[in-house]
Parts: sequence; C-alpha cells; structure tokens
Amino acid sequence: MSIDYRGLRATILGLGHFGGGTAAARWLAHRGARVTVTDLADENALADSLPLLADAPIAELHLGGHCEEDFLNADLVVVNPAVRPDSPWLALARRGPARLCTELELFMENCPARIIGVTGSNGKSTTAAMIAAILTAAGRRNYLGGNIGGSLLDRLSEIGSEDWGVLEISSFQLWHFSAGVKMPTVAVVTGCTPNHLDWHGTFSDYAAAKQRILVGQTSSDAAVLSPFDAEVASWRPLVRGRLATEPRTPHTPCEVMRLEPHANEKSMKIALPHAEHEEYELSVPGRHNRMNATCAASAASAASCDMEAIRLGLQSFRGLPQRLEWMATVEGRMFYNDSTATTPESTIAALESLDSPVWLLAGGKDKGFDFRPLAAEIAGRARGAAFFGTVRSELLARVAAADPDFCCAAVETMDEAFEWCRSRMRPGDSLVLSPGCASTDQFRNFRHRGERFAELVRRL
Ligand code: ADP
Repeated sequence: MSIDYRGLRATILGLGHFGGGTAAARWLAHRGARVTVTDLADENALADSLPLLADAPIAELHLGGHCEEDFLNADLVVVNPAVRPDSPWLALARRGPARLCTELELFMENCPARIIGVTGSNGKSTTAAMIAAILTAAGRRNYLGGNIGGSLLDRLSEIGSEDWGVLEISSFQLWHFSAGVKMPTVAVVTGCTPNHLDWHGTFSDYAAAKQRILVGQTSSDAAVLSPFDAEVASWRPLVRGRLATEPRTPHTPCEVMRLEPHANEKSMKIALPHAEHEEYELSVPGRHNRMNATCAASAASAASCDMEAIRLGLQSFRGLPQRLEWMATVEGRMFYNDSTATTPESTIAALESLDSPVWLLAGGKDKGFDFRPLAAEIAGRARGAAFFGTVRSELLARVAAADPDFCCAAVETMDEAFEWCRSRMRPGDSLVLSPGCASTDQFRNFRHRGERFAELVRRL
C-alpha cells in the first residue's frame, strides 16, 4: 500500500550531515509534499549537505534557527535522530497536529522488502555488513543502509518484495520510532553496554530504546540476541517470535566463549541452532569480530541462508573503513585507523586484536564512561599510549593508577598524540587510533577524525 504524500506539509527537523535529512527532504518533495527544511545550524555549517537539495523542489529553507509555525502548521515532521528527547522543538512539534517520524521510519513503511535490523552498543555496522555479505553469497539481492550511512529512500523504486533490506539501527533511531511501528522480520542485538547516557538519561532508558526492536516484532519474526552479552541474553522474555540464537544445548555466555580459544585465530566455531560447532574462517581479526560473525550467521540462518552461503559470505567480508583499518606500513611500523571506536569496549577490542606491540591514541569528548576497565587493558596490553581531547587527564590518571610505570602522556590534540607515539615506535610496532570516546570536542565527527589520522599517516 503506497502512501500519497501530495500536498502534505512536511517539515524536516534537522538537515544534518549524514544524508538522512537531505534524502527525506528530496524524497518527499519529489512525491509532491510541500517541504520545509529547518536546522539550528546555518548555511555555512551545512555547506556539505545543502548542495544535495539543489535539484529538489524544496518550498522553504529556514536555517540558523527554527520557526514555531514550521512545527505547528505541519502534517508531517521528519525528525533527525540526533534531536534529543528533551528538545523544546520536539515538544512543540508534538503539540501540533503533525505526525512525527524519522527518515528510517519513512523508509521502513514504504519498503516492500523483508528487513533485517541490527542494533547494539558495538558492532552494528560490522554485523550488518557481514549479513549483507552472506545474503550476497546466497544470491539474494540486498540493500544495506540505516545508521551505517547514506539513505535507501532514493533506491526504493528498485527494491522488490523478494529483496532484503539490512538496516543498522541506532538507539536514537529506535527511541524516535512511532508507537506501533512494525519492526524488522529479523532483529539482531549485538550487545548492550552503557553508551549515549548523556542523550538517553539512564542506562535503563538506553536499554529500553534498544529493546524496542524486539517488542515491535510479531510472532512470525525472529530475534538474534548475542549469546556473549549477559544483559542482552536477559532480554529473552521480550522476544515476540522465534529466538534464532537458542543453541541446541543450553550454554552460558562463558561456555560459548570457550569455543573460541585465542582472540586472533581467524577460524571460529559457532553454535547455530541446527549446526552446532560449525567452523568458519574470517578475514577480519579479533574476538569481537567473531562475536559479530556469530550474530550475523544466526541472522542469515533465520533468513534461510544455507551454511555454504554463511561460510562464503563471512570469508569474503574484508572489514569496513575506519574499523581497525590497516592504513600503511612505514619502515616496519604499522598504522591502523579505528576512528569509529567511540566506546571503551571498542578500544579494548582493538587492543585484543592486534598481535604486535601497540601504541594507542585515545581520547576525545567525555560521555561519562567508566574508564577503569579500559585503563587496565591499556596498561596490560599496550606498549605505550598518548591521550588527547577533553578526557585526556582522566585517562592518564586511570592508566597511572593501573600501572604507575606505564609509558604514556596526555597532550592536547590528536596530532600531538600521533607524534608522541610515532617518535617512540620501533620496527614491528603498531600504532592505532582507537579513541574510545566521541570526537566532537575537536572534530566534526568520527569520520573527520579518521580522515585527519589518515592524513597524518600519508605524510610519513
Ligand atoms: P557500531 O556500528 O556499533 O558503532 P562498528 O561495527 O561500526 O560498530 O564498529 C565500531 C568500533 O567498534 C570499531 O572500533 C570496531 O572495531 C569495534 N567493534 C566492532 N564490533 C565490536 C564488538 N562486538 N565489541 C566491541 N567492539 C566492537
């Protein structure tokens, strides 16, 4: 059933920089809606996004601030998922007659394909991309999108009911979904550890947002709960349909982990419901990627992919940019870009995954994380570390408490941190940017941070 948007007064609340706002504006305008785009940021700050609207019939652009009428006189308000729950503009939009939704919700309600949705605190993009690789190996046409970047709205016309959509879904996107939205046919939760508490408020609010992917499913759907995360494993009672990760014999998360003896072995054994202890080869390193692959294999299996497709798909997956991405080897020294590591767990995953002696660049904006477990891992696994950004002193103090003799420094910028570590590296050492924090104290976003790192490596 296609929805008629002609003549609808639609307001895009937050154009943003990641493509969702521009895609929703274009898509609605081309379907005859009268579209107003509004953002607190001004024209200069949105210089990357505005050209994407050039050929779309946008009725009004209200930048550098919002006007009340754009919310009170709208039929539809498409909310950028970064808009905070306590935003007065969101409250205003709710007071008016408009229906509120996000770009992802627009896509999901108009998409004829079956959808696999992936959420979790870490590993969403990687797991979603692994699932897409398996579907491709199985000969199924699939579309990878959502929070991973870009928008699939403009590809809707080519998507059919036999295809699959694979969507990475963030906690912000889940929080903004309207009540009663039908959640994906296969829902995957890779794990749930405290994150974005400055946005959600409390851990239980954050977990409740993640849980929406399960409670919005129906009895004919399937859910994959990571068997490696005790919090997520405890969400079983919320599963409405089939639990696709239920092993034939009950494992505690620890027992499942014992199937994977060494963090850097690239073959793994995973327990799928109908093929326990099947062996798979991965092309990406680390225990975390084997956990992601376990979830991806379970999701693909729930989507009726066979074992051969799972094997081929996982083997063909070479990793995503800025996720432990090898950049260069210069005079025997290796450089890795892991700028997407915005949580302490993802930095721990990087430290576990690299075999060589590691120099770590970490730091950024304070999101209220408990850095003690990360500090212990840094002191135990790295050869040295330089901390930068707002949290640099805290990280330094935590690591010094774990090991007073550990070789580390706190400097202001990532450039200085890079130089501090680089000048101490020996042949055979690795240097990894794996910040464990958000980037926005010193960069536009994590991509911008990763691009700067790549530039520093290129200059060597
Ligand atoms: P997300 O989409 O949830 O941010 P990504 O797959 O983009 O996750 O990976 C982001 C960062 O987290 C990278 O540094 C990556 O190496 C790390 N990572 C990926 N999967 C996991 C996992 N299961 N546990 C911990 N860290 C992970």
